[in-house]
Amino acid sequence: MKSLYRIGFGFDIHPFKKGGPLILGGVRIPSPIGLRGHSDADALLHALCDSILGALSLGDIGQHFPSSDVRWKNTPSRIFIEKALQLARQKGYRIGNVDACIICERPKISPHYSAMRKRIGELLKIPVNCVGLKSKTAERLGSLGRGQGLAVMANILLVRR
Ligand code: MG
Repeated sequence: MKSLYRIGFGFDIHPFKKGGPLILGGVRIPSPIGLRGHSDADALLHALCDSILGALSLGDIGQHFPSSDVRWKNTPSRIFIEKALQLARQKGYRIGNVDACIICERPKISPHYSAMRKRIGELLKIPVNCVGLKSKTAERLGSLGRGQGLAVMANILLVRR
């Protein structure tokens, strides 16, 4: 019998590069630094995508969208989310709620919470009150603490349709 619920976890990290914009949760944040990556480097959507794939036991984003494939160069990460959602639907699940944490020293993330939660809700087809989002600094520890990049951790709950 299929489980009523399946939980998933996702993690992603990208180095900063000079020049914005910073794209997080599908939102363009004006910033003098952006994230380096093969696609649009949206670490928040990547972690959410991995959490969905993880909940389904279907591997990870790198297996579904390898960075060696030129098709995914500069791709908006909503494409990855759409594909993961489609897989969830095929397996008989919808998203229940998500909870994510962004870790970076700069820029300040909190002013963008509401835009990101709204966009994530749209992408995952869930109400905004089912999108938990927070951010932390790394307390100046390690590479994240030196401001060299940004990391995201995300949990997701899938519910049987
Ligand atoms: Mg990534």
